Amino acid sequence: MTGPLSGLRINIDSAGLKRRVDELALISEAPAPVVTRVLFSEADMRGREYVRTAAREAGLALREDAVGNIFARWEGSEPGLPAVGSGSHTDAIPNAGRYDGVVGVLGAFESLAALKRAGFKPRRSLEVVMFTAEEPTRFGLGCLGSRLMAGTISVERARALRDPEGRTLDDLRAAAGYSGSLESVRLPKGYYHSFVELHIEQGPILEERKVPIGIVEHIAGPSSYRVTLHGEGGHAGAVLMKVRHDAMLAGAEIALAVERAALESGSPDTVGTVGVFRIEPGAVNSVPFRAYLEIDLRDARLDSRAKALADIRGAADRACARRGIRMEFEEINADPPAEGDPRTIAIAEEVCSGLGLRSLRMVSRAYHDSLFMARVSPTTMIFIPCLNGWSHRPEEFATTEHIASGAEVLAHTMAQLAV
Ligand SMILES: [Zn+2]
Repeated sequence: MTGPLSGLRINIDSAGLKRRVDELALISEAPAPVVTRVLFSEADMRGREYVRTAAREAGLALREDAVGNIFARWEGSEPGLPAVGSGSHTDAIPNAGRYDGVVGVLGAFESLAALKRAGFKPRRSLEVVMFTAEEPTRFGLGCLGSRLMAGTISVERARALRDPEGRTLDDLRAAAGYSGSLESVRLPKGYYHSFVELHIEQGPILEERKVPIGIVEHIAGPSSYRVTLHGEGGHAGAVLMKVRHDAMLAGAEIALAVERAALESGSPDTVGTVGVFRIEPGAVNSVPFRAYLEIDLRDARLDSRAKALADIRGAADRACARRGIRMEFEEINADPPAEGDPRTIAIAEEVCSGLGLRSLRMVSRAYHDSLFMARVSPTTMIFIPCLNGWSHRPEEFATTEHIASGAEVLAHTMAQLAV
């Protein structure tokens, strides 16, 4: 491997790419600059149409599967070989920005268009995916499209998903015009030779270190848990302290145990958050008889995450035993972390040095469709800096120059993988 292929000159149309990102941002359920495109909403449907048009303009052939993953393909000279894949998502949580996911879809289209303009002839086919529902907004579970492609969620579990209005995935996809069996979404074994996702970092490290490109070595594995605590209520004046079974106080001990377990897991990448904490009845003069917590726990290493979880469970059991509280502790979801592919990482790194761009190996602390593509293909991600590390808010921002650099690195990396 010697960096970019000799003689391959890539010219990313950075102004055209910026224009497309800005145009797609206007397709939103909320007024600009807010971007909201929830799965199969009217805005998501118009966003999909925008993506199809952009793919056609890049000279790519379209195909869509039964859950609405959109594939845009450039057939190689040996179309029977496993393809080189890229892609990301265009759905956006409520009150989001314009770059998360979008840079990895529209940027990959521009990478392939630039390779075409440069006269590159791929041996392997090159394919860009717009994944359905990377964001968990509608069904409470992220990366639905890539999970089904990789076969890491069963079709039965996908069918059982309900949105807040009680509608099923089958109802919603049928209304969006997607038919066919969910079983057919799963990729054949060895479908991708390799997969590289371009994405904004969603963290501050690249900006702080003034490095234009991050190359992802590990993707942290997310997990989440639901804790329901049943205590005993009563009058805040009448029930004396010694006889109380206060569900809120047990919850408070558990929340502090989450923080302590993450700090003491032995891994700098363990993060634990109690983002939901509700109590009943929620009155100033009433002892809380019920508390409800949701815990998010992530790590790039499965063993340290498991240790943190065991510590949290132990502390929760002790707190509940001491306080006379009955606890239900359920796993909502637990995905293992993923490792980047060393060869693909090395190619991306050499491309960067050949282009005179500094790069940094990184952990992706957010999860992405690549977490699931890594189960079925050698995978890495290319990160670009974003302002203050902001994401999932309207102020999210990446410079045109950084987006173009990311697309250029992606183009050269895919070219190397495709020869
Ligand atoms: Zn994203």
